[in-house]
Amino acid sequence: MKILETKDLCKIYGDDAGNELHALKNVNIHASKGEIVGIVGESGCGKSTFANIIACITKSTSGKILFNNEDITHLNYKERRDYYKSFQMVFQSPLDTFSPKMKVERYMIEPSLNFKLMDKKSAKEYAKELLATVGLSEGYMKKYPSELSGGELQRVVIARAIGLKPELMIFDECTSALDVSIQQKIINLIIELQKEKGFTIMFITHNLVLAENICDRIYVMKSGEVVDVLNKGDFRNAS
Ligand code: ADP
Ligand code: ADP
Repeated sequence: MKILETKDLCKIYGDDAGNELHALKNVNIHASKGEIVGIVGESGCGKSTFANIIACITKSTSGKILFNNEDITHLNYKERRDYYKSFQMVFQSPLDTFSPKMKVERYMIEPSLNFKLMDKKSAKEYAKELLATVGLSEGYMKKYPSELSGGELQRVVIARAIGLKPELMIFDECTSALDVSIQQKIINLIIELQKEKGFTIMFITHNLVLAENICDRIYVMKSGEVVDVLNKGDFRNAS
């Protein structure tokens, strides 16, 4: 079953001088339930533009996005809010969503309260369970972001994202700012989310070797185009 599908997605950025930059050119990809799909390419090839369009943060110039077979290309404000119950994105910098003034506890319970899924007491209990899933003890609930390492911060962000049990998660360069040893731990966590919890994941990175270690299929991008589709059997660098 296809969770996500894009059809001829295009994005043109324009500037005041009338110059056009074709950041995405007819991008067709899909992710089926339970897959880890990679989007790989060098800096500037359009990966973030693509992720931001799927997340409805940026508007596409043309083309279509289907989520569970529903057209989500032009969501209004309320529809987008609902979409974020089943779609979550994890960025390169945890602090994009995690305010330095907020304790882990408040950050973790926010979605449960915002979407009115449970009361505060239950939300706190649920937050502790989620932290345990990513290998963090409940002692972390009382900490501020400044007291956590980069890897721990990214774990908290992932814990919150999985709390909504999203049907699709996008990880956009989520390990790029981390030391190599910690990178591997986050990768292991993502594999666990797929294998044990059946999450569907889109893994975006400039690092092909990293992607080959985790993805079922990889779309290779260059200058805004998908130039190659690699399946598991075709991977060259995977261990
Ligand atoms: P990547 O994530 O692969 O590094 P991006 O999607 O960030 O690629 O960028 C793709 C191209 O689009 C680059 O040439 C970049 O400079 C350009 N670009 C990205 N965002 C904007 C923007 N908001 N306005 C104009 N050009 C942009
Ligand atoms: P990344 O590849 O990690 O996204 P970028 O430097 O490509 O890093 O982009 C960082 C931010 O700047 C993004 O939000 C992107 O939309 C914006 N951006 C990138 N290139 C341009 C550009 N040429 N003009 C305006 N904004 C841009």
